[in-house]
Amino acid sequence: MSHYDVVVIGASAAGTTAATTARKFYPDKTIAVISAADDVLIPCGIPYIFGTVGDSRKNLIPVDKIMAANKIDLMKTKVLELDRDKRLLKTSDGTTVGYDRLVLATGSKPVVPPIKGADKDNVFAIWKDVVYLDAMKEALDKAEHMAIIGGGFIGAEMAEESRKRRPDMPITIVEMQDHCLQLVYDPELCQMAEDALREEDITIMTQERVEEILGDGKVTGLRLTSGKTVHADLVLLGIGAVPNTELAQASGLDLDGMRAIAVDRYMQTSDPAIFACGDCAGKVSFFDKTPSGLRLASIATMEARIAGANLFGHTRSNQGVVGCFSTVLNKNAYAAAGLTYAQATEKGYDVVVGEAKSINRHPGLMEGAAMLDVKLLFERGTGTILGGQIQGALSGGELINAVSAFISNRMNATDIALFQAGTHPALTASPIAYQLVNAAENALMTMRS
Ligand SMILES: Cc1cc2nc3c(=O)[nH]c(=O)nc-3n(C[C@H](O)[C@H](O)[C@H](O)COP(=O)(O)OP(=O)(O)OC[C@H]3O[C@@H](n4cnc5c(N)ncnc54)[C@H](O)[C@@H]3O)c2cc1C
Repeated sequence: MSHYDVVVIGASAAGTTAATTARKFYPDKTIAVISAADDVLIPCGIPYIFGTVGDSRKNLIPVDKIMAANKIDLMKTKVLELDRDKRLLKTSDGTTVGYDRLVLATGSKPVVPPIKGADKDNVFAIWKDVVYLDAMKEALDKAEHMAIIGGGFIGAEMAEESRKRRPDMPITIVEMQDHCLQLVYDPELCQMAEDALREEDITIMTQERVEEILGDGKVTGLRLTSGKTVHADLVLLGIGAVPNTELAQASGLDLDGMRAIAVDRYMQTSDPAIFACGDCAGKVSFFDKTPSGLRLASIATMEARIAGANLFGHTRSNQGVVGCFSTVLNKNAYAAAGLTYAQATEKGYDVVVGEAKSINRHPGLMEGAAMLDVKLLFERGTGTILGGQIQGALSGGELINAVSAFISNRMNATDIALFQAGTHPALTASPIAYQLVNAAENALMTMRS
């Protein structure tokens, strides 16, 4: 039997970050990470295995190197049992590991909906597993018609990357909401994203719910509740993820109302010796502390930096989920942070919008010049920023991180209008036309009128 001061279960975004943070905060402690996956995928890179990157083995977190560099022991085996009374773990290779502090970073599993036929051959959920995804890539190479259930960012990215691999294959996205990406963007941005996908010859069916996955053994299509059918010999499920809590649940740890591991703002579970972070851990909204179902790598690593630091004394606390997303569709960035207009009004805010659009270079003939649209949402009265959305030049994918920082620091429209942004002709918009500043100025004008 081995014993460590700190054991982390899981070596993906949350587990790796929790372990390396623990190393920074506790240089003298013994630390081990236990990973069920031999090869840990870069989770956000999964869609790109099918197109741009082309190979699952080129999309791996270099876990062995990271752990060796941080003097952390890495065990590649699955934890089967957690005995909280004895502070012991039992693994699938027969090892017993003791701990003083444990971090659960067991992640999530894709949602497989209770739709009739979801178990047919050639129906794939997006498991973060190299062997499974390689089989999916093989099926994609042989397929004649593909359908994707769910038009969120995973469905949209999977559609676009599959298009790169299979330029002529019919691809259909079936989405039950009014728009694809509706949970993260306001309608006008959703429409632009849908247009971008249509330009790549991807068929989009919105306000359509799948009633049955058809076929005799192998999938042949989808039947929708509207009565329509979609021909498909390959179906991908892109409808979200659920927390992987098997180990936590079996050991008697508390779960929250959304079936995630219950944690406090220090990422501590109902057992003071055990912390949880990432997709397996419960989350609350930054804005009103109501439960949040958002599961992102950016959230997982933030939580891991809190859990890893707090193991032997509370030094950091979690303010809740802001939610910061970005994607690229047809060479344009689509990015969002915080609340959409609909979410903000639903939470009771009186919302004021400020928009600004300009080229991201000055003068506009500089190399790489492209239009960048910024929309910021503020609370009337206080002027506090609630959210932002950016579309256009690829630099929007980084600019949205400034919006996320504005939100986290509860900045108001005047703070943003006066913030000192670094600008350069070859890198950014001109300081006169800087989109974030001008969007805030425009919102202030509306608030004054
Ligand atoms: C296709 C796709 C694209 C995405 N794109 C983005 C994006 O662009 N940006 C973004 O922010 N987020 C994105 N996400 C979300 C992001 O992937 C997750 O939020 C992130 O993976 C969460 O990290 P995690 O470490 O909590 O969990 P996971 O990545 O799920 O990892 C959990 C790990 O724990 C291990 N494990 C579980 N149980 C055990 C056990 N009993 N013993 C040992 N090991 C165990 C697993 O093997 C796994 O490696 C995407 C997700 C998908 C599926």
